[in-house]
Amino acid sequence: MMPPAFLLASAFVFGAVVGSFLNVCIYRLPEGRSIVSPPSSCPNCGNRVRFYDNVPILSFFMLGGRCRFCRSPISWRYPVVEALNGVLWALMVYRFGLTASGAVFALLASALVVVTFIDLDHQIIPDAISIPGAPLALALGSLLVVDPFQPGVGLGVRGSLLGTAAGYGLFSVIFWTSFFYYGRPSLTVRLAGEVVLYLFLGPVVWTWDYLRESFGRKVEAPDEENEEEVPGQGLGMGDVKLMTMLGGLIGWKGVLLTTFSASLFGSIAGLTLVITRGGGRKSKVPFGPFLSLGAVLSLLLGDRIVGWYLGHGP
Ligand SMILES: [Zn+2]
Repeated sequence: MMPPAFLLASAFVFGAVVGSFLNVCIYRLPEGRSIVSPPSSCPNCGNRVRFYDNVPILSFFMLGGRCRFCRSPISWRYPVVEALNGVLWALMVYRFGLTASGAVFALLASALVVVTFIDLDHQIIPDAISIPGAPLALALGSLLVVDPFQPGVGLGVRGSLLGTAAGYGLFSVIFWTSFFYYGRPSLTVRLAGEVVLYLFLGPVVWTWDYLRESFGRKVEAPDEENEEEVPGQGLGMGDVKLMTMLGGLIGWKGVLLTTFSASLFGSIAGLTLVITRGGGRKSKVPFGPFLSLGAVLSLLLGDRIVGWYLGHGP
């Protein structure tokens, strides 16, 4: 039996190493570039990052936060993403042990780190994560993973399916409700047909579009992907896809707790922005980071929060 401190420290180190790969994903996925090649280089002078300068977290400080060659500043986000992923991996191992669930949830946390920073930068959640992620989450959730709300009990096919349905169903209802509430009424009739289609067949339509874009011959220039967005609202179709994926691993209770805590944190952040910056409704707060935070909270503390609520609530 490994001493727990050593186990957690190792999880942190491996998490931080994977974190430097996540940095590559965060910068390249939205541009549709390969995340495997070419190797990382300085965006200013083009010199390749040397392997000895690629030590997570430490290299940043040893280089004084600047490129070895041209001395241009390196973003502080690199070490932050590495440290964050290290901490998340240690927390998942602390909570779920060195088990299949621990590994799957650590990978999920990493995917959510990528989602969070891409959504902060570009206000999109990449389909490359949520669309292949949804069937993968359903498979892993059905076969490998414990129910985060009842550790020790498998989530199972039923739990995973219910979670997927809850994530998809709840968020498509929220999305379409706000779409009609804030959207242009003249489009209502034309869109009603699409809504019915999406409510029942959304995942099929996304997968079809995704496969066609990935493997089809015609490659269109990536547009702004704003056509599906609700004007003035933080919630987009990307959030619906993300929750569909998350549901398969966190179950329906996780979906509810994630939705509740994300709305709470999102409202606090939105209010803070309005107060500090005086920004009106135009300062849009992306919802992906809050959904990610809520999902991680559900994984780590879900059973305690529900237990506390059932014990002390109304
Ligand atoms: Zn440079």
